[in-house]
Amino acid sequence: MRQSKFFMPTLKEAPADAVAESHKLMLRGGYIRQVTAGVYAYLPLGFRVLRKAENIMEEEMEKINVPEMMMPHFLPATLWQESGRYKKYGAEMFKLKDRHGRESLLGPTHEETFTEIIAKNLKSYKQMPIALYQIQTKFRDENRPRFGLLRGREFVMLDAYSFAATRDQLDEQFDDEKRAFEAIYKRCGVTVHPVIADSGTMGGKNSTEFQAPASIGEDTIATNESGTYSANLEMAKSVDTFKQDPEDPKELNKVSTPDCDTIEKLAEFLNVPATRIVKSILYIADDQKVLVLIRGDKQINEVKLGHILDADEVREANAEELKEITGSEKGGVGPVNADWADKIIADDTVKDLYNVVVGANETNYQFENANLNRDFKVDEFADIRTANEGEPDPVDHEPLKFTTSIEVGHIFKLGTYYTTTMGADFLDNNGKAKPVIMGSYGIGVTRMLSAVVEQHLTEEGGIAWPKEIAPFAIHIIQMKMNNDEQTELAQKLEKELSAKYDVLYDDRKERPGVKFNDADLVGAPIRITIGRKAGDGIVEVKRPGDEKAIEISVDKLEEFVN
Ligand code: ATP
Ligand code: MG
Ligand code: MG
Ligand code: MG
Repeated sequence: MRQSKFFMPTLKEAPADAVAESHKLMLRGGYIRQVTAGVYAYLPLGFRVLRKAENIMEEEMEKINVPEMMMPHFLPATLWQESGRYKKYGAEMFKLKDRHGRESLLGPTHEETFTEIIAKNLKSYKQMPIALYQIQTKFRDENRPRFGLLRGREFVMLDAYSFAATRDQLDEQFDDEKRAFEAIYKRCGVTVHPVIADSGTMGGKNSTEFQAPASIGEDTIATNESGTYSANLEMAKSVDTFKQDPEDPKELNKVSTPDCDTIEKLAEFLNVPATRIVKSILYIADDQKVLVLIRGDKQINEVKLGHILDADEVREANAEELKEITGSEKGGVGPVNADWADKIIADDTVKDLYNVVVGANETNYQFENANLNRDFKVDEFADIRTANEGEPDPVDHEPLKFTTSIEVGHIFKLGTYYTTTMGADFLDNNGKAKPVIMGSYGIGVTRMLSAVVEQHLTEEGGIAWPKEIAPFAIHIIQMKMNNDEQTELAQKLEKELSAKYDVLYDDRKERPGVKFNDADLVGAPIRITIGRKAGDGIVEVKRPGDEKAIEISVDKLEEFVN
């Protein structure tokens, strides 16, 4: 590709409202342009990277025998009414009506759509296990789209869905997908940690997130040093509450963190920016779980579960109010036992609570996660936490380390939630109808590209793209366009190398300084500069991040490039 013909509108400075480095670089490099909030055009450079990532994904899915297909973006509300998610999904859903007034939506995810196809087209255990996937645009009307491709309102996702006749089949499918996802992240050059995660509105108890550590990340993960324990902060923090007897509400009062009476102190204790703290309190009443979240950052308006209050509000709230809050539309959780709520609210330690707890009625939590391949007893979690609070380290337990990170994927053992609500049955080998057992697996493709950039920033303020997803493998830069020796050599190399690699040849009549600045933004793994010594068959080669370019004779180039 000749750069003179390549549309790559670079900018000296990123717009002032771009905060994330990946966002700035993608704008400056002419990878993307915003069309409207959280909606982007992928310019040729950005589109090349996207395509490369998609190709890798297609290859890895092929390896585990999962075929690709494509679902529509435009969906009828009826599908989501069937599963019960039409209301539950909330304001993130883009809803629209057709000319006949039929309620419709733009797909934010496709569990329902796939389940429906399976319900109508899969009949027997003989056709199972089977899985399908697509790479497709999703729509979510995020409250705060931001950080470029990291949180868009229109973004590309790889979403796979598995359909099994038995739990064992599901386990196998889940492991296959997990391995395929890990291979994808590796080839795309993004470092990820699989962590225990909250399943949100997706349903199902067993879910694993793939988290890519990065300073801009909106999530926080907790890991121990030996890597045997790794969880989203939301789940990790539930440890504190599990250590209490969940049957005894009074016990909950005791949950506290050392001297964390302000968000700032809590942030310091957790070693995370204060803006990321989400506090929550758990109430349990007659098997009902109620979550009340306290926000650490007034600017974050996202509701995960429950109603958002600040610490003062919670302390002042009486049981009646709490009832109202938890019965609220946003909460979507059960009523609270007034007595318990009173006790908890009355207690001063309430301000120290910061747990997000899911499934707290269980005393023995089973995580089917590769990192945690066994049953964990509540006590063990408690021990890990205790260690973190600076008390003597109990045998085998290490302190947790907290890292901000980006959720680049999320895989779920869904079980039969969708298939029972939507009537997707199959006949087992005894001719008996049973609900299909499902899994779903998603990678945020465009978000992952931002994560790759966040993890591959160079000293020169550019990008060092990992080999397999770099927009170009080789960038040839000709210093002087009016020098015939240089032109001859450049064109010769362009021709030879293009047979094997994606080559960008900077043939523009621009100053070398301009060319080099742009090359830092293209971030090709190998840069070949053709200058003064072209006549002697000598060029300069440089990888992003290399301190200096080195001179090399053209006949040695092949070796270097490989
Ligand atoms: P988040 O917690 O960041 O809002 P999510 O848990 O809502 O993400 P999932 O429903 O698990 O997202 O979707 C699967 C994947 O899609 C996520 O792991 C993430 O990589 C990606 N994704 C989700 N929302 C967005 C978005 N607004 N922009 C870009 N990618 C997204
Ligand atoms: Mg979300
Ligand atoms: Mg999430
Ligand atoms: Mg998720």
